[in-house]
Formats: sequence, C-alpha cells, structure tokens
Amino acid sequence: MNRRNFLRTAALGTIATVAAPLAFSSPGASVSRPVAKPGKLRLTWEPYELQLRHAFNLAKYSRTTTPDVQVRLELDGITGYGEASMPPYLGESVESVCRFLSSLDLEQFTDPFRVEEIHDYMESVAPGNRAAKASVDIALHDLLGKIMGQPWYKIWGLDPSKAPNTSFTIGIDTPEVVRQKVEEASPYKVLKVKMGLDNDRELVETIRSMTDVPICVDANQGWTDREKALDMCHWLAERGCMFVEQPMAKENFRDTAWLRERSPLPIIADEAFQRLSDVRRMAEAYDGINIKLMKSTGLHEAYKMAVMAKALGMKVMLGCMTETSCGVTAAAQLSPLVDWADLDGNLLIANDLFDGIKIVDGQVSIPLDRPGIGVTPLA
Ligand code: MG
Repeated sequence: MNRRNFLRTAALGTIATVAAPLAFSSPGASVSRPVAKPGKLRLTWEPYELQLRHAFNLAKYSRTTTPDVQVRLELDGITGYGEASMPPYLGESVESVCRFLSSLDLEQFTDPFRVEEIHDYMESVAPGNRAAKASVDIALHDLLGKIMGQPWYKIWGLDPSKAPNTSFTIGIDTPEVVRQKVEEASPYKVLKVKMGLDNDRELVETIRSMTDVPICVDANQGWTDREKALDMCHWLAERGCMFVEQPMAKENFRDTAWLRERSPLPIIADEAFQRLSDVRRMAEAYDGINIKLMKSTGLHEAYKMAVMAKALGMKVMLGCMTETSCGVTAAAQLSPLVDWADLDGNLLIANDLFDGIKIVDGQVSIPLDRPGIGVTPLA
C-alpha cells in the first residue's frame, strides 16, 4: 500500500479518532492543527508505512514494508522529532502505538527536562508499548538538545570520532540476490549476514567468493541444535566472522550458555532481552547485548543499558529496526560508546523522511553541529 492509500485507509478507521493532525503530510495539503499552548508540551503523530528496498527475509518471516508512526513533540515553537517502528515480531502495531500516544497527557509536565519523571509516567500509563515510548523519548531528546543547542553525543561527553564502523545487512536470499546485495554493500567494512535456514553455509561461501571484509552473523533464533550451532561457530570463525547474534531461541538460555562456554566467537543477545532490568541476566549466557531504541523505550534507557553492560564486562552492539533516519540518527548519537554498530535501517527503506546519519568510509558519521538527535526533515 502506498503512503496516500495508507493514510486514506487509516482515516476511515479508528486511527482517525486518535491520530494527530497530519504533521508530515505532503506539500499543499491543507492541515488544521490545534494551537499550541505557551509553555506546554504538545505531542502529535502520524502513521507512515516504510517501503523496503528489498524484501526482508529472516529465519521466521519475510516482508516488504514496515509499519511506522512519526511523532512530533513541540514546545514554544521548537519541534522535536521521534519515531516508532514496529516490525511484526515486537507485537506492536500502528493501532497500539496511536492508542498509547493518545492516552498520554504530556501537558502536565511544565519542565521538559524531567526525563526520568516522564518515563516513569509513561510506564504508569501502560506496560509494554516499547516502540511507542521510544517515539516520545526520541522526540523529547531532540527537543531538549535543541533547547540546549547541543547534539546528544556532546551532552553525553562522547567523542564522535570513536563511532564504530557499521555493518550492512545481507538477508537470507538466493545466491544471485546475495551477490547483488554484496555489491551494493561495497562501501561497508562489515557485513551482517542473516542466517537460520538450510543454506547458511552457501550464503557465507557466496559472500566470501566476493569479499574478505569481516562478517557478523545474526541467526535470529534459527539454530535449534547446540552441537550444530557450535560446529557453525567454529566454521564461521575460520571465515572471518566476528560474533554471532541470537543463535538459539530466546527462551533457550541453557543451551545458549553451553554454546557460549565453548564458542570461539562472542555470542550476542538480541531477541532474548528488551529492557534495562534484563541486562544483568544476559551476562549468564551471552558475551554481549544488541541495544535497539525500539526495545529500550528510547535513548534514556539505551544509554543506561550500554553503561551497565560495560560495567558487567559485556560487549555492546547498537542496532536498529527498519526506520527512517530519525530513529537511526538518534541511535547514532550513542554509537561512540559501543563496540559494534548495525545502523543501516534507514538505508533499507526507499521513502526516508529525514537527513541525518551518514556512513563515511564504512564508519558511522554523526551530524556534528546539529542540536538534538541531529536530523532535519527532507523537503
Ligand atoms: Mg538481531
């Protein structure tokens, strides 16, 4: 469904009663917006369907679009941008995000810098809803950074030159499509290979016939036998793999811990954990964690997760969903703090809405002089 049809459909449904005015509608569209009250936070949002450049094939499903909601948080003429991206396995939807956002009363907060209180309030409104909470958190950070006139990497005291290389994702596909994607990925210094089907080795051999760049592997819970998983880790280690992400089912803690004890490659948790309170337990079965803003309810908790994981001696990876440059650039602000970045979600979509993060010579490049999360809307 294209964007226009999607919005028309949405307008016929219940979303119309909860969705805010079309803050991101096409030029020329007539939009009436409620007048912002001085000194009051005003939250508006709009559903937006992300169109994927290639069908995204994982071990458990395939898709060509990702539902998304774009958010604005305004205060006295300053606008912060945020976003919720909802890949199906997260369990959120456009409807659930719009419902959660419509249940918030942010006008009660007279000081937007009370980030901790605003997060406590969102938790009190409803549990879960992590992507919806992330959208508010990202817009709030953008707004606060703009009020302070500083980008978040600077507010956190991070050195942007220490941002890691980012990986570029190669999904599960036929050898021809894999070859095409590897060619597209030539500017990148790390390739992330999605695995979990019968042709895992063929996929890696195809990539290795074209390039020697380091790879990392994401099995997306697709490996079921721990002995085979260990064999695969040894095989991958001999082929320039740096680590393996979520090799086995997220519930299968015992076999994952067994694998971690024996694997020559670090084992990284992704689907196995969501929130800050999960991080300590991850240290028992994994060498590191993959932090994503849509899991962590945004930047506030993502920063705490990274600090906590490092304190536990764990590796930290920073990932994303398929998102516009809004969410990905927000994550990039944190990237100097992490070991590995997988921030290519904006590059996987054909209808981005923002200018922000750049990849320069394979490395994450944070917009240095833009306050907030570092994005400007595309015309
Ligand atoms: Mg993953």
